[in-house]
Amino acid sequence: MMSTSTRNPGDSCQSRPGQQRNGRSLAQWKYTPKKKPVVLSNRDFLAHAFHQCADNEVPWVAGFPGDPGEVHHAMWGGRSALPLPHFIHAGNNNFIAVSSFVPGTDRRHHRRKDCFAAMHIVMVDDVGTKVGFDKLVLEPTCLVETSPGNFQAWYFLLEPERDRLRAETLIRGMIASGLTADGSDPGMNGVTRYGRLPVGINGKAKYVERLGHPFVQKVAIWSPTVRYSIEQIADAYGVDMSVLKSPTRAGALRTRSRRARPGLACSDDGITRILETAGLYLEPLSGLEGGHRIVCPWVHEHTDEEQSGTVYFEPSDENDGRGGFKCHHGHCQKRTIADLNHFAIRLMQSTSEQSLCKTI
Ligand SMILES: [Zn+2]
Repeated sequence: MMSTSTRNPGDSCQSRPGQQRNGRSLAQWKYTPKKKPVVLSNRDFLAHAFHQCADNEVPWVAGFPGDPGEVHHAMWGGRSALPLPHFIHAGNNNFIAVSSFVPGTDRRHHRRKDCFAAMHIVMVDDVGTKVGFDKLVLEPTCLVETSPGNFQAWYFLLEPERDRLRAETLIRGMIASGLTADGSDPGMNGVTRYGRLPVGINGKAKYVERLGHPFVQKVAIWSPTVRYSIEQIADAYGVDMSVLKSPTRAGALRTRSRRARPGLACSDDGITRILETAGLYLEPLSGLEGGHRIVCPWVHEHTDEEQSGTVYFEPSDENDGRGGFKCHHGHCQKRTIADLNHFAIRLMQSTSEQSLCKTI
């Protein structure tokens, strides 16, 4: 499942900067920890990752101190990395979106799907903990220890992927293979997702408690000339890109999202699109036309921030054209479609003010 490639026992290639990777033999790579951390700046990382941005495209960063799970949503909003904002510095949690973005209809850049320009980098999350190093079959362009014993691996693309559907298919395929988290951050499953920039701290409270200070990230590998095509990554990790050739779930979702919903005041594209943009959309409910699994906007009130058990129904005759919302968690018992509409309208307003391009 993980790879269609063969691996030679005992084969342990070292990183070979200056060499581009072509084909399946790449999967013979094996991680060998280095004694010394690698010196790399966030600027260098950005310059190599996004050097193929067109003039009107920008990479997108966010940075802040403290525990990312506890900060105000607005801290995740971030801004263009051109020029690099002052909040990107070694004492902060620093994040980079995997894609570049073009201006929206308001002529301002936003980290939103509708402003997607291209995906430039691909991330594998939780290497060394949830994902064993033996499963990291492609040599990464960059490998960063983002919490004790836990690494984020980056693959830089040979060419930016400008087809959003192809980019999403790869990301979803890698999530489905257990290669990258789709857990606590509802925004983590699309082209607007963030990973951690190489230089910075991890301010999660559990590390501060354990270490007495935030965890300081360490760069383990930096090989900027090691780059891959989408196909090479998909092939190595067993992601089926051929689903794009037939009507896809993602395609069906887009069609559905764009259907006009005259019963809703907040957007002619409807709630589904707004939730998708905010990273709160999960998937259509199978067998229930117009039903969607979503992440509850009030998930932070759920026990353990549990994400399951929340559905949205598009306006239909069955709900008198109003749409429906049901969350099975105790704190949400009394919430209705009116609350969801209100949330969506607030989200739209804050998004248009660019204070909450990415809300969660
Ligand atoms: Zn809820």
